[in-house]
Amino acid sequence: MARRPFVAGNWKMNGTLTDARELMAGLRNAVEPGMPVDVAVCTPFTLLYPMGKELDGTDIKLGAQNCYFEKKGAFTGEISPGMLSAANCTYVIIGHSERRYVLGETGDLLRAKVKSCLEEGLSVIYCVGELLDERDAGKTTDVVGRQLAESLSDDLDHARLTIAYEPVWAIGTGRTATPDQAQEVHAFIRERMGGLFGADAGAAMRIQYGGSVKPGNAAELMACPDVDGALVGGASLVAEDFAGIIRAAAATA
Ligand code: PEP
Repeated sequence: MARRPFVAGNWKMNGTLTDARELMAGLRNAVEPGMPVDVAVCTPFTLLYPMGKELDGTDIKLGAQNCYFEKKGAFTGEISPGMLSAANCTYVIIGHSERRYVLGETGDLLRAKVKSCLEEGLSVIYCVGELLDERDAGKTTDVVGRQLAESLSDDLDHARLTIAYEPVWAIGTGRTATPDQAQEVHAFIRERMGGLFGADAGAAMRIQYGGSVKPGNAAELMACPDVDGALVGGASLVAEDFAGIIRAAAATA
């Protein structure tokens, strides 16, 4: 099944408005009209409104990096799915490893977030991935399978769900999974998604790879049959690098 590649930039906790405008000046033309790739930038909350304006007239969509599951109320410091929609977000990343391991988010919390964001109409990028000692112990698929099972259920609107496989040992480290390592886990995720949502949905679901993706390794990773694009951290902050990854993704379509 032909799946349209999808590249998303995760800016993490980086960037003031001045930085963002500079980056956008370099990125504005990175997606040429008709290019067969979906592209998003997931900015800090403080940049969502101005970036929505900056992205107007481009083919780059806006995303957030996190969201709370409640609609409104006494949740100091949190942002709701409806607030992200109102800020023109199309996408939201849920379950990034930094949320799991630095901020202590649990599978139950992530389940509530995924459900609430999909119900709001947002498209969710749900991240999974193993720690290095889990990989070394041969537990990669156990861990990824558990992360999928504990936060996804068959009643979800899976058409707007993307999975990002991000081995934690490859995030921000310069170490990348080999294409074979990525393909093995992506095929496993696709099979699990087929089991949960039905074979057609599993075949149609986009699965991004994330972890030190750069223009130099993007093509070989995205050549894997079950790798449908990339979730990009550091390289998404350098316009020429992000544009190179976008071009590599479009070339696989
Ligand atoms: C990420 O933050 O999701 C990520 C993959 O980061 P990096 O590309 O810097 O490894």
